[in-house]
Amino acid sequence: MCGNRKVHTYSGHLPECPWCARGRLGRFDPFPALPDLAGGGAAGGGAGAGAGAPAAKFPTVLLVVAALLVLALLVVAVATR
Ligand SMILES: [Zn+2]
Repeated sequence: MCGNRKVHTYSGHLPECPWCARGRLGRFDPFPALPDLAGGGAAGGGAGAGAGAPAAKFPTVLLVVAALLVLALLVVAVATR
């Protein structure tokens, strides 16, 4: 196990953590963001699921109302012509 990050796992025969070596070289390290992603993902998913249903419904209602308004305007425009 890596001494810097517990999520770093590597074979014991390696002299040092290859993931930390990658980080020092400026390479992409897939591990550091994992804890943040898990916490943010869970919180975001919960909030998204709660706000997702109304958020998905609300624009649809707005679209229907807007379509009805446009239809009413068209009817009025045709009727008053
Ligand atoms: Zn490491």
